[in-house]
Order: sequence, then C-alpha cells, then structure tokens
Amino acid sequence: MRILIVEDDEMLAEAVAAALRQSAHLVTRAASGDEADRLLAGDDFDLVLLDLGLPRLDGLEVLRRLRQRRSRVPVLALTARDSPEDRVAGLDLGADDYLTKPFRLDELEARVRALIRRANALASSEIVHGRLRLDMAGRRLSFDGQPVELSARELAVVELLLMREGRVVTKQQIIDHLYGWDDASSVNAVEVFVYRLRRKLAFTGIDIKTVRGMGYLIEKAGG
Ligand code: CA
Repeated sequence: MRILIVEDDEMLAEAVAAALRQSAHLVTRAASGDEADRLLAGDDFDLVLLDLGLPRLDGLEVLRRLRQRRSRVPVLALTARDSPEDRVAGLDLGADDYLTKPFRLDELEARVRALIRRANALASSEIVHGRLRLDMAGRRLSFDGQPVELSARELAVVELLLMREGRVVTKQQIIDHLYGWDDASSVNAVEVFVYRLRRKLAFTGIDIKTVRGMGYLIEKAGG
C-alpha cells in the first residue's frame, strides 16, 4: 500500500516509516502541511498518517482541504495527548481514526491494517486466489501453504493486482504504487519488473495478463 506520513518530528516520522517499510508498504514522507497538501492534491495514496500539529499549514486544514476535494483516502490522525479538541475536530473533519502520542508502533501498525481492510471492504486481511493466499497483515504470499519469496515491491504489486482482481491495473498505477510521486520511473521499468515477477510466480500458475495499451490484470480465480 502507498502510505503518506505527514509528520514534522523527523525521528518519529523515520521510525514510523521504517516500521511500515518493513511491512512492505511504500512510504512517502511530508514534513509540513503545505507539502502534504500538495502531495495529496496530486497523488493517489492508500492511507495517510496525519500529524495535526504541523508547520505552515496545520493538519486540520490539510484534512479539510483533502475532504473538500472529495478524497476518500483513509486518514489516521496523530494527535498530542493534551489536545482533545483536536481529536474531536479531526474526526469531525473526516479523519477515520486517531492515535494519541506517544503511541506504540505495533498499535499504529494494527490500526493501519484495520483502516486498509475497511477501505477495501475486505472482511479479513487475507486475499485468497485459487491456491494463492496473500496475508496482507503479515505481508506474506503463500502457495498451497508454502511461502513464496518476493521482494517488498513485488509483493506490493501482487497485492495491487489481487485487490483489483478482474480489473485492469495500468502501468502508471504501478509506477505510482511503487515509486515516489516525483520519481521518473519509466513504463519500460514496469515491463521488466512484471516480466521478472511473472517468472517468480510461474510455478504457481498465476497469470498476470497483459492488456495491450492499458496494463495488467489477474482474472478472478475460478472464472
Ligand atoms: Ca507535530
């Protein structure tokens, strides 16, 4: 999943980013409200962790603008312990959940998983596709119960394809999913990436179809 962390506390932001990257999420960071606003206006994230106390543009204003643009991206607000009024305002402005600082990283990760599940309307954090099983919480793919070794980026692309099973995922969506918004990643790089991914998954029989001129898709299992 692509996650934007908006947090001006450098050490906290890096700790959170490291934990989420370890769980094979693709993380972008913003250290001020205006930077976050710019990123959110121009990009597609799956989740936003939003500190409410930010320089230049405060977190509540970032949130207000985000919802004004009709974005439904899930937002987990990070608030200071001594400001209950911020939590209320945040929820009223459309935050989906909040965490009070200081928080435990494992709790943050559990809430991230819950928000992603909710956003994808999945009953559990597992996607089963034929004999493949993707454990989104544990960041593992298995085939007949045996783990399939994939890199974080490969896992992220398989997840994207499986979550949109039966629908085309464009090369641009893969680029957006894999790299930062300002990364000049090419369509060729995506083709090479998918080629390698197919080879790694060949033994599972999973078929990542090329839809000419559009992108890729995995057909619904059993269909
Ligand atoms: Ca702050």
